[in-house]
Amino acid sequence: AIRITGLNKWYGTYHALKNINLSVNSGERIVVCGPSGSGKSTMIRCINRLEEHQSGQIIVDGVELTGEMKKIDEVRREVGMVFQHFNLFPHLTILENCVLAPMRVRKLSRAKAEEIAMHFLTRVRIPDQARKYPGQLSGGQQQRVAIARALCMKPKIMLFDEPTSALDPEMVKEVLDTMVTLAEEGMTMICVTHEMGFARQVADRVIFMDRGEIVEVNAPDRFFGNPAHERTKLFLDQIL
Ligand code: ATP
Ligand code: MG
Repeated sequence: AIRITGLNKWYGTYHALKNINLSVNSGERIVVCGPSGSGKSTMIRCINRLEEHQSGQIIVDGVELTGEMKKIDEVRREVGMVFQHFNLFPHLTILENCVLAPMRVRKLSRAKAEEIAMHFLTRVRIPDQARKYPGQLSGGQQQRVAIARALCMKPKIMLFDEPTSALDPEMVKEVLDTMVTLAEEGMTMICVTHEMGFARQVADRVIFMDRGEIVEVNAPDRFFGNPAHERTKLFLDQIL
């Protein structure tokens, strides 16, 4: 579970997150949307401490995120993240990408780490690509590897930052299907995405951010059917 209260973040003098409050329970699926620059990435990057916040509280699975490095490692172990641009290590094979963190951080043996890697590569339906390098895979395949790699750490929470927005249209579905399966299995997920079909299908709540604030939080039916805020309506008119 994640508890965020009174979170503020500045980049220099720029107020990027303004008094964010959000609780995400175990097994809950949250979709975050909003215009470019509204603070979506900043918010989820704060959750696994890729960014530091200046005030407020972020508690991930009972551990408060502070400057203390030991705690940050502890939290990051439990939180998987998938980025827009895959971020695979280009000089390592798919299998090596997947076993690296489990061996180094979880201290698994190579045999055990490879077994887990093959399990998740099979689940994202690319076990046959294990010996290839990222550059030899399509964008959709690389993103599925990125998801499998995150899952190899057996995270309790998965964060997605626009995982399909850099993909060619024909590859979006294969990645979304992987995410839907994960959601159906009960993974706690926060997904920044403008894939509104996905939001309708899996989200328990949809969050709309604008100018560093959470403007609206609603169940998908209400969010798309009858949004409470004018800014949400304007945004939905633009993207739907
Ligand atoms: P997008 O949809 O384009 O990804 P976003 O909602 O994810 O947008 P953020 O990346 O969180 O937006 O950025 C929020 C604001 O903070 C933007 O105005 C951005 O310019 C600013 N910002 C983000 N990262 C930094 C940084 N490292 N240094 C300074 N300003 C930053
Ligand atoms: Mg972003």
